[in-house]
Amino acid sequence: MTEARQLAPSPRRLPTKVRRLVVKVGSGLIASPGAGLDAGRVRQVADDLARVVAAGKEVVLVSSGAIAAGMARLGLSARPRSIPEKQAAAAVGQSALMWHYEQAFARHGLKVAQVLVTQEDISHRARYLNARNTLVTLLRFGVLPIVNENDTVAVEEIKVGDNDNLSALVAHLIDADLLVLLTDVDGLYTGDPRRDRAARRIDVVEALTEEIQRLAQDEADAVSVGGMSTKLQAAQKAMASGIPMVIASGREAHTLFRLLKGEPVGTVFLPKADRLGARKRWLAFAVPPQGRVTVDAGAKKALTERGKSLLPSGVLEVEGEFQAGELVALALTDGKEFARGLTNYDADELRRIRGVKTSAIEGILGYKRLDEVIHRDDLAVL
Ligand code: GLU
Repeated sequence: MTEARQLAPSPRRLPTKVRRLVVKVGSGLIASPGAGLDAGRVRQVADDLARVVAAGKEVVLVSSGAIAAGMARLGLSARPRSIPEKQAAAAVGQSALMWHYEQAFARHGLKVAQVLVTQEDISHRARYLNARNTLVTLLRFGVLPIVNENDTVAVEEIKVGDNDNLSALVAHLIDADLLVLLTDVDGLYTGDPRRDRAARRIDVVEALTEEIQRLAQDEADAVSVGGMSTKLQAAQKAMASGIPMVIASGREAHTLFRLLKGEPVGTVFLPKADRLGARKRWLAFAVPPQGRVTVDAGAKKALTERGKSLLPSGVLEVEGEFQAGELVALALTDGKEFARGLTNYDADELRRIRGVKTSAIEGILGYKRLDEVIHRDDLAVL
């Protein structure tokens, strides 16, 4: 049986047929603090991915390891603290990282491309669409794109900051059917498997309950950035927009191939039923909100259950200094955020018209931009 045929049946635990996937590889898997990149491990990752590509899947790899590789080349044993040092390490390490991948994928006759992105490339709609076109074009050319954050130029405050979250944003970007985080543990455990012998791997997660969140309160180590907590943030982004996510061990050979064949590998996070449309996905996750608008329960109901727009009458509180056209988060008085959308009014205007009927807007401001504070089409319910 050919490899493509082996992957043909719908994977057992995955709800959708997988055609296009994003795979994230963590620093902890392919690098160690003093020694830098582990060529053997990079080859192992490449072998697994190449097999999946050969079976007809489109794969985008998001790989960490630039800073760890740079640390080793610069003879640094601890992760640098200062931003310029981190950026210098990333600059040295990124080319080392790509050199290793070039070699490893060339053994399978695969071409790779380096794609470095920043938070701004994701927040700006035009740049976002541009990045998407580039990635999709690379896939069409049969090239395997390797994405990382552009650590050398991105300033800390405006970074995505970790590749778990970045990989979820890339999965949105290319409309992937699956996101896989390959790491050095084989899934989410009920306890710390290194210390607790009774800890067992959770096979499937259907909702990110508080109990699940508690399992992820861990510390990242010398090489890794995020640990389990950023993986659950990635899961939230993926699940909410209809993309299944898997955390699995990259330490064993052909994890990805086995996963796609339907073997019970890792922990699968099942998406909510509906897939968010591309623009709503971008609204919900790609842009950091510039402020927060608290609304009453009636307004929330109208927005989430009846498909209505937000009117001034439902607005209770306005936090932050935002301009018309910017993204704001919507919450109830308990602070729980339930939607995000583009506001038609500045924060100052909104403070003056909150709670009033639309017919009163003009009397208060002297003009009226629109009836809606946030139009339905510009709103993503989380
Ligand atoms: N972009 C960083 C690097 O390549 C890693 C960030 C992460 O591991 O989450 O070193």
